[in-house]
Amino acid sequence: MRTNDDLLLKLFNSVNNYYFDNLVVLRGIFWTSDKKLFNDHNYKVWADYCFCYKGIRINQDLKKDKAPQYVIKYLIYHECLHYFLGYVNHTVLFKIEEEYFKHYKKANNWLKNLP
Ligand SMILES: [Zn+2]
Repeated sequence: MRTNDDLLLKLFNSVNNYYFDNLVVLRGIFWTSDKKLFNDHNYKVWADYCFCYKGIRINQDLKKDKAPQYVIKYLIYHECLHYFLGYVNHTVLFKIEEEYFKHYKKANNWLKNLP
């Protein structure tokens, strides 16, 4: 699996193991710039899952903002849900699944409080 940061790979492996029984098979996980993330909205996109490439991309601004590991893991967890549930809008089912993440509230609050 390809990456541009071994830490991302480590965090992905830990999420995949703990929550998904290692069932998520990706080709890569990368830090990437804001512009490369799917963004047809006006709000900031923190991460995405690319179905054609089978890869997760995380916004590299989070490195600058010194995001804690639980925030990165939360984003990875969220993108892994898309891996299973498709590129859906965040339906009720999606939200229920999302709340299984251990630090769901804490991670969301951290992201909300960014300037
Ligand atoms: Zn999503």
